Amino acid sequence: MRRLTELNKRIAIVGGGVFGLYISWFLAGRGHNVTVFEREKELMTHASYHNQARVHNGYHYPRSVLTALRSRISMPRFVADFGECVYKDFKKVYCVGRPLGKVTGQQFYTFCRRIGAEIEPADRATASLMNPEHVEACFIAREYAFDALKLRDLLLQRIADGKRVKILLETEVTKVSGSEVGRLSVEFAKGGESSSEQFDEVFNCTYSRINFITTRSSLPVIPLKHEMTEMCLVEVPDAIKHMGITIMCGPFFSVMPFPGARINGAMPHSFSHVRYTPHYEWHDTDEKSYKDAYLKLSEDERHSAWHLMVQDASRFIPVLRECRYEDSLWEVKTVLPRSETDDSRPILCRFNYGLNGFHVIMGGKVDNVYDAVAAISKELDV
Ligand SMILES: Cc1cc2nc3c(=O)[nH]c(=O)nc-3n(C[C@H](O)[C@H](O)[C@H](O)COP(=O)(O)OP(=O)(O)OC[C@H]3O[C@@H](n4cnc5c(N)ncnc54)[C@H](O)[C@@H]3O)c2cc1C
Repeated sequence: MRRLTELNKRIAIVGGGVFGLYISWFLAGRGHNVTVFEREKELMTHASYHNQARVHNGYHYPRSVLTALRSRISMPRFVADFGECVYKDFKKVYCVGRPLGKVTGQQFYTFCRRIGAEIEPADRATASLMNPEHVEACFIAREYAFDALKLRDLLLQRIADGKRVKILLETEVTKVSGSEVGRLSVEFAKGGESSSEQFDEVFNCTYSRINFITTRSSLPVIPLKHEMTEMCLVEVPDAIKHMGITIMCGPFFSVMPFPGARINGAMPHSFSHVRYTPHYEWHDTDEKSYKDAYLKLSEDERHSAWHLMVQDASRFIPVLRECRYEDSLWEVKTVLPRSETDDSRPILCRFNYGLNGFHVIMGGKVDNVYDAVAAISKELDV
């Protein structure tokens, strides 16, 4: 078993998303020398930016108490650690939709009380925005949004303070293999030139592209499910400007402030729909069936589902018809296949995956970074 008890290990982190950056900061803080490889020109431009920006507080998971409770623990920690990037200035409205809802209003309320999440019936003005035919119950909860760009800057600042992390942008890792001296050889390409370097440990934090590296390194594919997602950015009408609204728990939708962008000088809302945000899905099952998620992102023809999203959502909240569509964010969302059955978002940790010292880490929520470093500490004695 590899241990990180000795100091000054050479560690490669592949992927400069929130997981790669947080783990780099953590390992550097434990006395190691870290190199981050990031293929894009900038850090955190994939899933860590293209998401709903929700700092989860458990409400979202009435069918997975474990995930809900994990969120209840991680959320205050994230807010305390990264307060500068947390946007709180909005009313968080959670509604239970019908028909096709998988919980009732009473069940949702009882669930929130059980996990200790703040919840109260919505005031009359907020409730009056909903169409009672499709909205069974309406509550005010406590949940926030994060600004991914500010989060990136905070992480970078902390990383810079420690002076032990080197960041290589526009550098794509193409292969990891064992070397004779017991280290790992990382092959990478930058500007058409290929090179390699030796490391003691390598962490694959590439989310939707985890199997890009495993397949090229002749390691078994990790079963993953991918969805090509579209989140719309919209300007919402004044009546809901300072609200985030989630209709759950079924094939419904969310409208959330999106603090990481400005459109015409104002903060837009993201608009996502359980039925229309995923355009299609595919699975990594074996080397033959593997498809590069980024190739799909760059080559796919894009046909926005905005009209379907807003048409459906206005049946629940008629004022949504007044939303002005501005843009769409496209990203590949990756989950473990078993999430399909219990709606959970567990973290994926595979230590020493096929090679001693090669580790794969993936989380389904930004604040899963805490679960990731807890697992790393435990497994590698950091
Ligand atoms: C539509 C959608 C909505 C979501 N909503 C939420 C939400 O509201 N709240 C929440 O907490 N989470 C949400 N998530 C999940 C969250 O976005 C992810 O859990 C998190 O961003 C994963 O971070 P990461 O660092 O693993 O991945 P990424 O941010 O995707 O980082 C991976 C990095 O690896 C780089 N890379 C890839 N291949 C290579 C290579 N070979 N060499 C070098 N670099 C490489 C990429 O360029 C990228 O920067 C959502 C996700 C999606 C897609």
